Amino acid sequence: MNDLLKSIPSVNKLLNNNEIKEFPLLENTKVEIINDTIEQIRLGIFENKISVLTEDDTVKKVLDSMFNYNNHLSRVINGTGTIVHTNLGRSVLPTEVIQNIVNANMGYSNLEFDLNLGQRGQRDEFISQQVAELVGAEAACVVNNNAAAVFITLNTLFKNKKVIVSRGELVEIGGSFRIPEIMKASGAKLVEVGATNRTHFSDYENAIQEDEKILGLLKVHASNYKIEGFTSSVSINELAKLKNEKMILVEDQGSGSFINLAKYNASVQPENTVSDSIKQGVDLILFSCDKLLGGIQAGIIAGRADLIKKIKKNQLFRTFRVNKLVLSGLETLLNIYKDESRAIKTIPTLRMISEKPSEVEKRVDKFLSNISQSVLQFKKVKTEATIGGGSMPQTKLES
Ligand SMILES: *Cc1c(COP(=O)(O)O)cnc(C)c1O
Repeated sequence: MNDLLKSIPSVNKLLNNNEIKEFPLLENTKVEIINDTIEQIRLGIFENKISVLTEDDTVKKVLDSMFNYNNHLSRVINGTGTIVHTNLGRSVLPTEVIQNIVNANMGYSNLEFDLNLGQRGQRDEFISQQVAELVGAEAACVVNNNAAAVFITLNTLFKNKKVIVSRGELVEIGGSFRIPEIMKASGAKLVEVGATNRTHFSDYENAIQEDEKILGLLKVHASNYKIEGFTSSVSINELAKLKNEKMILVEDQGSGSFINLAKYNASVQPENTVSDSIKQGVDLILFSCDKLLGGIQAGIIAGRADLIKKIKKNQLFRTFRVNKLVLSGLETLLNIYKDESRAIKTIPTLRMISEKPSEVEKRVDKFLSNISQSVLQFKKVKTEATIGGGSMPQTKLES
C-alpha cells in the first residue's frame, strides 16, 4: 500500500504536465481539482479498490475532473435501448461533422461572403442548394428546428387562411409542440376532417367542396404514436391528386429520411423518404435534421422555389436563422449523404439502426471483457431497441 501511495505524483508535477498545463482553467482551480483527485485516489488505495497506479492514470483522472468542472453538459452512456433519445441529445454526430464544425469555426469564415464574386453572400445558400439537389427539390432553406419550419411555413403561406388537417394527425410531440396550438399561433385556421382513427379521401373532398376558401392541405407524420386496428389515412399521392391549382400541399414529415432504411433492417417499416414525397407531389416538405437524418439540430423546408422565396422574405425568418456552427455541421452531413453506403457506415444513428443483432452481440462481448464486475454486475440479455425521436414507434429492433 505504501508503494502505491508513493506512486501518486506530486501536485507540482501534475501542474507541470503538458496537458494539464494547457487546460483552460485558472491555476487555483487546477490546484483544487488536483488535491481533490489525489484525495480520491488515496481513499481508493485505502479501500483496496486501486491495486495499480501509473502517472498516466492520475493525469487522466485530473483531466476528466477538469473537463467536468465547468460543464453541466457531459458525455453519458445511453443504456436506454432508444437510439434517438431526445433527453440524451438525440443523434450522436458523425466525427467528420464535429471536425468540420471545429475547422470552419476556429477563425473567421466566409459565412456571408462569396469568395468567388468577392462580395457579400447569403449564409445558407450553399446548404439550400445541397439539400435541393439531394432530395430533388427546386429549392430549400434551413431554420433552427422542425418546429420552427412548421411555424414559419404556416405563418408565411396560411396566415388568416384555412388549412385542412386530418383528425388523426393533430399530434402532440415532446410535450410542447402541438399541431392545433402551433397553427393557432401562426395565424393559420385549422379545418379538421375525418375521425381519430379513420380519414378518407372523401372527407377532404367534401371539406373542399363546402368551403372554397381552403388554401392549404397539411399532412403531419404521426411520429410518436400509432393507431392500430380499424384505421385509414390519405396518402401524399392521393392528396396531390386532390388539390386544385390554387391550393398548397405541405407535409410535416417529422423525422425525415433521405434513405429507405427498410433496405438495411427488415424490422424497419418502409416509409416515404423526403424525395419520395417530393416525387409524389408535395409543394413543401418539412423535417428535422437531428432525428433519422442523424445530424445537428436544425429544420429544413424543401420544395417549390416560389414558396421558399416567400418564406425567406418573412420578417420572422431572421429570428429562426441558424448559426455558423450548425451550417458547417450540416454541410458535412449532406456531403456524407451523397454516398449512401458511406452514410450508413459513418452516421451513428444510421449505423445503429442497420446494425445486425450479431454485431450488437460482438460489441456486448467486447464490453463485458473490458469492464470490471467488482462494483456493478453486467450480463448479456436479449432485448428489443426502438428508434425513438418520434420515429416509427411500432418498430422494434432485435438487440
Ligand atoms: C419531431 C417533430 C417535430 C418537431 O421537430 P423538432 O426538430 O424537434 O423541432 C414536428 N413535427 C413532427 C411530425 C415531428 O415528428
